Amino acid sequence: MVTIMRKIASLLILILTVFLTSCNPTSNRTKLVESNIDYFQYFDTLIYLRVWDTKKYNSDSELWKGAEDIIKHIQLTFQKTKDGDFEPELYKLNQSAGSGQPFKVSYDLFEVLKLGLEFAELTDGKFDPTIGPLVDLWDINNKAGKDAAPPSQEEIEAILPLIDYRLVELDEENKTVLLPLKGMAIDLGAIAKGYAADVLADYFKANGIEHAIINLGGNIFAIGKRYEKRFDGREEWAIGIRDPRFSAEDSIANVYIVDKTIVTSGTYERFFRDINDTSKTYHHILNPDTGYPYDNNISSVTIICDSSALADALSTSLFALGIENGIKFLEGQFPDVAAVFIDNDMNFYKTSNIDELYDFEPFI
Ligand code: ADP
Ligand code: MG
Repeated sequence: MVTIMRKIASLLILILTVFLTSCNPTSNRTKLVESNIDYFQYFDTLIYLRVWDTKKYNSDSELWKGAEDIIKHIQLTFQKTKDGDFEPELYKLNQSAGSGQPFKVSYDLFEVLKLGLEFAELTDGKFDPTIGPLVDLWDINNKAGKDAAPPSQEEIEAILPLIDYRLVELDEENKTVLLPLKGMAIDLGAIAKGYAADVLADYFKANGIEHAIINLGGNIFAIGKRYEKRFDGREEWAIGIRDPRFSAEDSIANVYIVDKTIVTSGTYERFFRDINDTSKTYHHILNPDTGYPYDNNISSVTIICDSSALADALSTSLFALGIENGIKFLEGQFPDVAAVFIDNDMNFYKTSNIDELYDFEPFI
């Protein structure tokens, strides 16, 4: 599966690398460009890219334009809503639900949906890419940070039968998807950012970048090792795991990594307070069985591995599986992947491989 993801990424990169080399003739810049930072606002989140490069690129080079084009393209591929008059393919696929007609999708959308369905199988539907109608009903993206009303029990019960990954029919050869029931909707929000991080990492590597940090709202890909050693002589990147109680700058632990991705799903990412009872909050990872957000004492789960799409699928899946089952699942199915859960009382729960593979440094 990961190989497939890499292949899709490489295709896109090939196109963009050719584009870059053709319109950016090698400059003889010898000055060290210590860091180039660009801020893009896509995927409803802040995107932050930082590259250390010795000669070719400065902050307004074509490299950044290519990166932004990749992000725009991927965002549009996984966007469920219309973009002005433009109808993205996922929007059109969801509109086709119930028509009885298979809908042809791009290679990228097909492969990421396949990955999503595979995780639905693996988690027995706790992760489910047909979660779309429930995501729309809760509308957490719009309500986040506010006091708002949750949907009614009747509204929830009316749409639950539409959420079932087993109903989706894929035709591998023709790259078509059939959604048999009217109202069904695919949502790949749990994987899209990770997939984008993989494509960007391959793009930077293909353009000769050896040291970079890609950060898509907490989905981090650290390329290579640090450009220069840290003050204490370390060559690994120190990546902070966010303290769930505080703002994004506050870390509760560091993990030291070289050329790995680290992805966190947390209840603090997007949630709203119940307008009728402000002691209640509702976050954005939803249980297809009950129709409500998972309520399992988890504040966040962080995954460390080589593929960001895999890490993203896993972070949401492990959240859904819960601490004990999530750790068992990972150790059984993905022994090379490491995970750390943080519960609501700020206790850590780690897979047993994490201390062998990485230096994990908690601050509490
Ligand atoms: P973040 O966007 O905070 O990085 P995640 O990677 O954890 O979040 O994915 C959460 C998103 O996944 C939700 O916003 C929604 O689009 C989608 N989602 C919610 N519940 C599920 C679920 N049970 N299975 C699959 N996808 C889900
Ligand atoms: Mg995820």
